[in-house]
Amino acid sequence: MKLVRKRLLDWYRANKRAMPWRETRDPYAIWISEAMLQQTRVETVIPYWQRFLSRFPDVHALATADLDDVLGAWAGLGYYSRARNLQAAARLIDERHGGRIPDDIDTLQTLPGIGRYTAGALASIAFDRPEPVLDGNVKRVLARLLGIREDIGQPEVVERLWKEAGALAHGPDPGDLNQALMELGATICTPRSPRCDDCPVSRGCDARAVGDAESLPLKARKKPARRVEAVAALVIRRGKALAVRRPSGGLLGGLWDLPGGPLATGEAPRAGLRRALLECAGLEISRASAVGSIEHVFTHRRLTLHLYRASTSTDRIRLDGFAGHKWVAPRAIYELPHASLTAKALERLVPSGSRPSN
Ligand code: SF4
Repeated sequence: MKLVRKRLLDWYRANKRAMPWRETRDPYAIWISEAMLQQTRVETVIPYWQRFLSRFPDVHALATADLDDVLGAWAGLGYYSRARNLQAAARLIDERHGGRIPDDIDTLQTLPGIGRYTAGALASIAFDRPEPVLDGNVKRVLARLLGIREDIGQPEVVERLWKEAGALAHGPDPGDLNQALMELGATICTPRSPRCDDCPVSRGCDARAVGDAESLPLKARKKPARRVEAVAALVIRRGKALAVRRPSGGLLGGLWDLPGGPLATGEAPRAGLRRALLECAGLEISRASAVGSIEHVFTHRRLTLHLYRASTSTDRIRLDGFAGHKWVAPRAIYELPHASLTAKALERLVPSGSRPSN
């Protein structure tokens, strides 16, 4: 164990990729990077992280910001619940901990959006606590290194991996050690064609000795994504388009969207559009022209969204399932915080001459 730690640390210090959050010990800056890096690639995160920190430089600035500004700074990163959770957690840190991020994993995990992984990452990287992290990269490295040939989705196997990661993190420089494991998984011990010849721990690696590295870790086959269909429309009244706001909470909570909704099984899109607009906004439309459809993949769903341009003379909006609405110039919808799916729909629905140039 001692030797594995030493080899990992030596290798990491000599080979780590440059990332701006690796140049700071500011727990807030590290926390923001960890939140952004969940589900998003390093190269994408770097400019977002820099802009976010210059806009909200500390816990208090984030805690007291307008939610729309926070969502706006997040626009394009996806998984907006991360941004809402960051702000909710910042408010709690401001109120309960005087703006100082807690340094123990139990308190950290009482905060919205901070689970076992993020708590371990923050405690070890920002506060030098000997706490483990376990993400996809670390799971793969440990399963291969230790020759764990069981389904890593099983709770007892996950627990074993946490224990093994904990044993490794228990020693000097736990933050570097955890980052070394993640870095090794990202650059050398990759899912396909691991570069065992360049690996600092190849001598003690079970999978390398057995020759089955590429088949590890074992994972039970995932269920295929469920197919769903929905409709959405750019509804125009007197030159203005209707934007609706999703209620807070949920996958896309707090973001602005186009009105519409899911289709019932076997329902034709055009009929579904009339029904959905009536149900979600009390809108009767006079005309609707189809603009094609777009595909979008969520974690467990594959969505086909049928798009329409429609017009209405309805004055009164009666919302159901949305938290607010606005009539705005079609191009102004771009300025409201919205999800990447809505951006894709707007690309098709708003004529390019009417889009803001950015
Ligand atoms: S020797 Fe190969 S399989 Fe083992 S940890 Fe290193 S890269 Fe991964």
